[in-house]
Amino acid sequence: MDAADMGQDLERVLLTEEQIGTRLDELAAQIDADYAGREVLLVGVLKGAVMVMADLARRLHLPVEMDWMAVSSYGAGTTSSGVVRILKDLDADLTGRHVLIVEDIIDSGLTLSWLLSNLRTRGPASVEVATMLRKPEAAKVDVDVRYVGFDIPTDFVVGYGLDYAEKYRNLPFVGTLAPHVYTD
Ligand code: 5GP
Ligand code: MG
Ligand code: MG
Repeated sequence: MDAADMGQDLERVLLTEEQIGTRLDELAAQIDADYAGREVLLVGVLKGAVMVMADLARRLHLPVEMDWMAVSSYGAGTTSSGVVRILKDLDADLTGRHVLIVEDIIDSGLTLSWLLSNLRTRGPASVEVATMLRKPEAAKVDVDVRYVGFDIPTDFVVGYGLDYAEKYRNLPFVGTLAPHVYTD
């Protein structure tokens, strides 16, 4: 599926597949250098991080393991409450592990902030974060994100793992939706 196939659902392409790939090459090189000689446990946050996890992991030369968590924010509406429920926990024991959380997007930062505190109670050697996208609101929360793909405006985006009502996750690019999609 490409931008043309989305027809009038798409307002504009924010990041092309090529831009995403180029940035992932850079991030992977940086991660390989930072973790040289160590083994990393990549922790993907379902479902949005599936694309970035797959594309980042295959660019790394480090020995890595991949594990997954699914979480959901309590509270109504589209904004995070910061109260998080674990829907699927990790299979891995984090004791002594170098954990790299892989995220699709950080908006308020509340979900990530909760996740960091939770994983840090499990005895890891280190916990860092890599996110494909970050919105300005995230800057207000004191979470240290070591690897950021792109800082983007506050508009609601879809594609490359991100959904609107579970759709558009499969788009290979990141785009904004036309308002009629969510107002009709
Ligand atoms: P927060 O950082 O506010 O706690 O929540 C981050 C989560 O909100 C993301 O994992 C994602 O599920 C959702 N989210 C935030 N901004 C967007 C966006 O622009 N588009 C989509 N599809 N989801 C978003
Ligand atoms: Mg996420
Ligand atoms: Mg979603």
